[in-house]
Amino acid sequence: MIFRLQFRENIRSVVNRVQHRCKCTSARLVLPNGIAYDQPVGLFVDNEFRESQTKFPTFCPATTQEIAQVFSASAVEVDHAVHAARSAFTAEWASLPGTERGQLLYRLSNLVEQNLELLGSIESWDTGKPLTASLTEDIPECVNVLRYYAGWADKIYGNTIQPFPEKFAYSLRQPIGVCGLIVPWNYPLMLSIWKLAPALAAGNTVVLKSSEHSPLSILYLAGLIKQAGFPPGTINIISGDGLIGKNLVQHSEISKISFTGSVVTGKSIMKLAADSLIPVTLELGGKSAAIIYADADLDQAVKWCHAGIMSNMGQICTGTSRIFVQETIHDEFMGKLKSYTAQKSKIGMPFDLNTFQGPQISKQQLDSIMGYINTALSEGANLVHGGKKIPGKGHFMEPTIFSNVKDKMAIVNEEIFGPVVTISSFTDSREVIRRANSTAYGLAAAVFTSDISRAMTVARRLDAGMVWINSSNDSDFRVPFGGFKQSGFGKELGDYAIKCYTQEKNVHVNLGTIL
Ligand code: NAD
Repeated sequence: MIFRLQFRENIRSVVNRVQHRCKCTSARLVLPNGIAYDQPVGLFVDNEFRESQTKFPTFCPATTQEIAQVFSASAVEVDHAVHAARSAFTAEWASLPGTERGQLLYRLSNLVEQNLELLGSIESWDTGKPLTASLTEDIPECVNVLRYYAGWADKIYGNTIQPFPEKFAYSLRQPIGVCGLIVPWNYPLMLSIWKLAPALAAGNTVVLKSSEHSPLSILYLAGLIKQAGFPPGTINIISGDGLIGKNLVQHSEISKISFTGSVVTGKSIMKLAADSLIPVTLELGGKSAAIIYADADLDQAVKWCHAGIMSNMGQICTGTSRIFVQETIHDEFMGKLKSYTAQKSKIGMPFDLNTFQGPQISKQQLDSIMGYINTALSEGANLVHGGKKIPGKGHFMEPTIFSNVKDKMAIVNEEIFGPVVTISSFTDSREVIRRANSTAYGLAAAVFTSDISRAMTVARRLDAGMVWINSSNDSDFRVPFGGFKQSGFGKELGDYAIKCYTQEKNVHVNLGTIL
């Protein structure tokens, strides 16, 4: 009880300090839907928003206009953030009863829910994703994930083992320490919460680095974290580029890294983490297959395949970007997917509630996608739909479908991370499983058939961390999420994430001979 009173006093004094400093570390912004608010732009360390020596701009990809200048961390600020997290870990967080950690997570979930419209609007402005998606998918998922792990916080148990009557052993699942969390730009807030919530529930403290392309929503969350009453230093949020991520991974007081992003960065993080031998969770890219058998419900398969690759402008790690269709229904499926895409993929500004497809995140990303499209055309792939940039401001492009592709083409093998899908035909299960597995990635796959025995047999044979039967991109916070092969290892979500943020200690008790 004394601890809790002191804790509240600490929070009050921190809030006062923050109010004193917040003028220079926030920007007054007005969103396209008329919401005016104060956007934090500082580094969030020890529950304070702080300035640093450098700033970088963040842009709206739909207009290419600058939204705000955000303070960037340097190695010095990374050090401050890690020290703050280490002090909070040692002083209070790890020893706080799980129920109290859960209550704080639950309080944060309520604040996120109360701020759903604002957070969704910030997310859409900073990333270009349709507001309808932010409001109905990303932010509600954040609320659900926070509540799910709030429930886990006081249910993290070990085991008991009794090898002999005289000997008793038990295990404890203990937090690892300070976790460095690094996220990409495609689902900035949601992927941050996927990491923060289980890490905190398990008793770790964290330093989270957002992507330089989309730092705003997570900085707004920082203010809510303070409001929820988390002890200073428990959650620290820093903005900056890959170099800052590197500094974080290399810091000697980091005990674990959880990274979501590209394979190239994942490999470099794993090499860096080898120096200090810290555990790493890697959620990397994908080139997921969707397999459509002739007995599938074709309209449902078309609907899911469209959502599976065209949602979020194709910027989805699990995107089912390679569609294999049984030869007898190939042309019919292709015709249906083309007309469904033409009808459903309404391109527009993120705040237009009819928009399905907003802009790509950046010019660089759009240019990279166009490069893949041009190469595919020069290699003889058949352009069924789309394929062009949309003139004007903003990084917009048409949803694109190719057929007549060869398995060796770059467009079939490499992650494009845009609204581009290839269709090819197959004859039988043996052939399609071999082709679906012939990629370096292994994130996800989808199987469409009305034969459940076939579906489950194919699901078992696919080299992928997640398989959907008669759906696509259907993740759920209660079900672990993660890949095989170069798509990474370790999992997010579900009970598995708790395992990834704890270490097991085994205690041997010699009971002696007392009877
Ligand atoms: P990225 O690898 O370029 O960057 C991801 C994050 O890592 C950013 O915050 C970046 O600043 C940081 N970073 C860059 N270089 C670093 C380094 N050397 N050390 C430490 N941190 C570094 O990826 P991106 O372009 O932001 O995101 C797109 C990629 O993310 C795609 O490949 C996509 O498939 C993948 N992704 C995977 C999942 C998943 O759950 N498997 C989810 C979303 C996105």
